[in-house]
Amino acid sequence: MRIDIVTIFPDYLAALDLSLVGKARRAGLLDLRVHDLRDWTRDRHRTVDDTPFGGGAGMVMRPDVWGSALDDLLVPAGTASGGGARLVIPTPSGEVFTQRHAEALAGEGHLVIACGRYEGIDARVAEHYRGAGHRVSELSIGDYVLNGGEVAALVMVEAVGRLLPGVVGNPESLVEESHGAAGLLEYPVYTKPPSWQEHEVPEVLLSGHHARIDRWRRDRALERTAQRRPDLLSALDAGDLDAHDRAVLADAGWEVVAGPGDGGSGGASHESRPAVVRRGVAE
Ligand code: SAM
Repeated sequence: MRIDIVTIFPDYLAALDLSLVGKARRAGLLDLRVHDLRDWTRDRHRTVDDTPFGGGAGMVMRPDVWGSALDDLLVPAGTASGGGARLVIPTPSGEVFTQRHAEALAGEGHLVIACGRYEGIDARVAEHYRGAGHRVSELSIGDYVLNGGEVAALVMVEAVGRLLPGVVGNPESLVEESHGAAGLLEYPVYTKPPSWQEHEVPEVLLSGHHARIDRWRRDRALERTAQRRPDLLSALDAGDLDAHDRAVLADAGWEVVAGPGDGGSGGASHESRPAVVRRGVAE
């Protein structure tokens, strides 16, 4: 995979030489290039911003400078490269970046990440490249405002990079993680020593009994998700929950109820799927 990151602070991205992403770069699994946006300016002061039309505080990044950079880095849509790169624009006004986005981006051959600063990038940049047939994703890493897109780019490269084949040593470790296919948070994890500051590792994890360990882990994952991220429970496919799962959820205050279409026309539409709801919410 190739990733180009464009920024006015290339040094900010030095962390991408470290750890698993750095190793992936050195192993040739990830071709990651960081560019200074000012290299595409034409004036003596290497200006990338100007005052906002309509007035107001702050400065806005100029579309002409971004256009020069992106024209060079995005392979024109519809060429032999299969439609070109995906342009990713980090912005707090974007769709919230989740593990599903990371998985989708990991399937791309080439990403170009455009890091904004000041009040952001002139809106015509996203509009122009979308109109030209490029795939453009405006993504937020959460409901807060950062000073620039560099930290968001680090987050996205880290989340995407670890999904690339060969980057994480043992791919098994990706399977049961939080936000994975099960739709649950991960269970609590422990290592040696078995006793620390009078806190003991749960007995079952020392038992060597794999079926009991799997069950214990799933129970804890269900409980933890109910406590910390109830929004994830509502998104579960209740058809995947066995009787034991349902009992654990019931103890945590959740129940599985018939979907809105159940008992109606008998159709198999997604609307008739059973749903996981907080007890007492369904009438
Ligand atoms: N005026 C913008 C707004 O209110 O939506 C905020 C601009 S912010 C100060 C400058 C840059 O930081 C943005 O262009 C974007 O690149 C980045 N940024 C800030 N918060 C972000 C977030 N939550 N997710 C992704 N990028 C963010």
